[in-house]
Amino acid sequence: MSQTKGTIGVTTENIFPVIKKFLYSDHEIFLRELVSNAVDATQKLKTLSSFGEFKGDLSDMTVRVTVDKEAGTLTVSDHGIGMTADDIEKYINQIAFSGAEEFLEKYKDNANAIIGHFGLGFYSAFMVASKVEIRSLSYKEGAEAVRWECDGSPEFTMEPTDKAERGTDIVLHIDPENKEFLEQARVDSLLKKYCRFLPVPVISGKEQEWKDGKMTDTDRDKIINITEPAWTKKPAALTDDDYRAFYHELYPGQDDPLFWIHLNVDYPFTLTGILFFPKIKNNFEIAKNRIQLYCNQVYVTDSVEGVVPEFMMLLQGVIDSPDIPLNVSRSYLQSDSAVKKISSYITKKVASRLDELFKADRKEFEQKWDDIKVFIEYGMLTDEKFCDAAMKFDLLKDTEGRYFTIDEYKELVSPAQTDKEGDIVMLYSTDPTAQYTYIKAATDRGYSVLVMDGQLDSHFVGLLEHKIEKCRLVRVDSDVIDNLIPKSDRKTADLTPTQRDILTTLFNSQLPKVDKAQFLITFEAMKETDAPVVVTQNEYMRRMKEMAALQPSMNFYGDMPDSYQLIINTEQPVVRRVTAEADSALADQVKPIEQEIEAKNAEIAKLREKKDDAEAAKQADALGAEVSAARDRQVKLVSDYAATRPVVKQLLDLALLGNGLLRGEDLSRFIARSVELL
Ligand code: ADP
Repeated sequence: MSQTKGTIGVTTENIFPVIKKFLYSDHEIFLRELVSNAVDATQKLKTLSSFGEFKGDLSDMTVRVTVDKEAGTLTVSDHGIGMTADDIEKYINQIAFSGAEEFLEKYKDNANAIIGHFGLGFYSAFMVASKVEIRSLSYKEGAEAVRWECDGSPEFTMEPTDKAERGTDIVLHIDPENKEFLEQARVDSLLKKYCRFLPVPVISGKEQEWKDGKMTDTDRDKIINITEPAWTKKPAALTDDDYRAFYHELYPGQDDPLFWIHLNVDYPFTLTGILFFPKIKNNFEIAKNRIQLYCNQVYVTDSVEGVVPEFMMLLQGVIDSPDIPLNVSRSYLQSDSAVKKISSYITKKVASRLDELFKADRKEFEQKWDDIKVFIEYGMLTDEKFCDAAMKFDLLKDTEGRYFTIDEYKELVSPAQTDKEGDIVMLYSTDPTAQYTYIKAATDRGYSVLVMDGQLDSHFVGLLEHKIEKCRLVRVDSDVIDNLIPKSDRKTADLTPTQRDILTTLFNSQLPKVDKAQFLITFEAMKETDAPVVVTQNEYMRRMKEMAALQPSMNFYGDMPDSYQLIINTEQPVVRRVTAEADSALADQVKPIEQEIEAKNAEIAKLREKKDDAEAAKQADALGAEVSAARDRQVKLVSDYAATRPVVKQLLDLALLGNGLLRGEDLSRFIARSVELL
């Protein structure tokens, strides 16, 4: 062969300036491309040998990356199949593509897209080199070594050379702006990132050792990769320790994973990998240690959005698939049907593995539950299919630390906790310590209370209601126990309208001012042994406010005051006494005022019926003023009386204290008063 000069067969006039100019952000991937090519060439030769088509020496099949700072070169060498001049003509010189200009324009910010689309892997070398040489000797018998050279213009030269060893050297003459790629440390860190699990040993530099007070190169080659990472092996060939060791190799310094799922599919797409359930300590770790995507053991990315269902972003590990179109844009990835299949396969696989773990060792599953709960709830909330599968193994924990599946729990509570409409009422607590008295009231009745104190539980409660037919979930402190699960044989508070009026005013007048809180006084005939006054928080408003805290668009609810109900237990002996005493002390004075108000209100109503009568309207207004004056008198009367009855304030304060609503001055007054009463 004599020297050839020619023009590289691209339809775009000059591809190299384009590569250089537009692909600035991802310069470093050139190394991944070249090392992958070297590995491919090596694998191909091994394959040929296994078919008996190559009978030569396979003893050294390593790939070597060498930096020569003085010469300004970075060389990637392999002992693979090599290329003849014809091969180079065919694979390197003729880059066939169409519509190049539009495509480049469209994807100019995405080096991966361009490189992947055109099979320009090799040409990515021009992102960092002013001149590239190929020196190659094909494995074919009688092949002639060839040297190709190109300086980044579309012209190249090709000539015979005297390479004795089979394989290919790609020599990059690194340009002045990319001198960093002549630093051994920089090259090593890139190899560690992209080539850490390549199937062929990759050598870069020498092992070092401590000698004469400094780190010095030894004469042993430094292999930077693990050629048979765990996910490429059969699950049966791996012990639990192997999985753990692999996990720690991927994410050094982490706690042991809770468990893992080994993925292995070959139809309708090829995919292998291992997903780990981490012990999550903080959100920072989630962001940092993400699932890594590989293509035939070549690292591609750790942005797996789209490939993996969103809720699985909490998992860690590796997914390797040659079928994921790795080099295309993210939006394309998400609409790709192969990718959708992969995503739903992973969902199915994770769900069935969890089900297996649950069935195989329930005890262990329960022990890990608190750690994996957030993941499963997230999955159930965001993925319909996963949710359906998870209904079987999702666990609910009660305040006694027992775990139930949803069906088991339904069965457990339905006899005692079905209300008069036939709906099952599940009670839950978001803070078993703070809500202790309510939980006690419920368990004393033989009810069960769930613990729902996870990050996602306020949403999850809604999901359970939606999924379980004829079922309601209510927080244990959202009403008095008899109202939480209304039964038909309920007693109602036995008070005359006057008593009601007196008691309402009596308690209202003694309420302390609590910041951002609103109280509504109501009466219930609970059990004699129940608390005299109970503070509850409206379930609906509370849920809205909790969601508002997570969603800025719901600010409206967030700004509302907390609304509480103050429920007076009219059956409780102290309340009964207070009622009777107030009644006998005040009824004679309050009744006439009430009658006056009633009569005047009736008159006002009549006057207001006369439309377009200015005189009547004036009279009604005057009467209205008299009514409110009468009310004020009544309030004054009752409040003055209340002030002489410290027991009223004491009852209120006790209830508020139980909810952490008694603070500051009110709290210290309460203490002082308690001492006095004693
Ligand atoms: P791709 O690898 O996507 O096909 P490249 O531009 O990286 O695209 O390489 C083009 C072709 O050049 C390869 O398919 C292969 O046939 C050949 N080639 C590249 N590097 C080597 C090598 N180190 N040894 C043998 N052949 C190679």
